[in-house]
Amino acid sequence: MNIKKGDTVVILSGKDKDKKGKVSKVFPERGKLIVEGLNVAKRHQKPTQKFPGGIIDKSMPLTASKVMLVCSRCSKPTRIGTKEVGDRRVRVCKKCNEIVDKV
Ligand SMILES: [Zn+2]
Repeated sequence: MNIKKGDTVVILSGKDKDKKGKVSKVFPERGKLIVEGLNVAKRHQKPTQKFPGGIIDKSMPLTASKVMLVCSRCSKPTRIGTKEVGDRRVRVCKKCNEIVDKV
């Protein structure tokens, strides 16, 4: 799982194909993630004290293999490599070879 919360990704398949969004949550043990405002499903919500109930838009988890990281350096969708910097392992863009993580 090379994608982290806060990354910008592009969706590779499905109804939101080619759309970009920000990762708001990752589930590493399930290999899934949630992209803010994308892969939205209508959900019926029961009324609660805070919410009157009705239909809400909810972003559903996507399989990590269905998204690709958008490099923060070259702004292109890219595969991710890793390299060691000191005692850390950082993610590297395969397109521009720049380090994607903030070091
Ligand atoms: Zn890049």
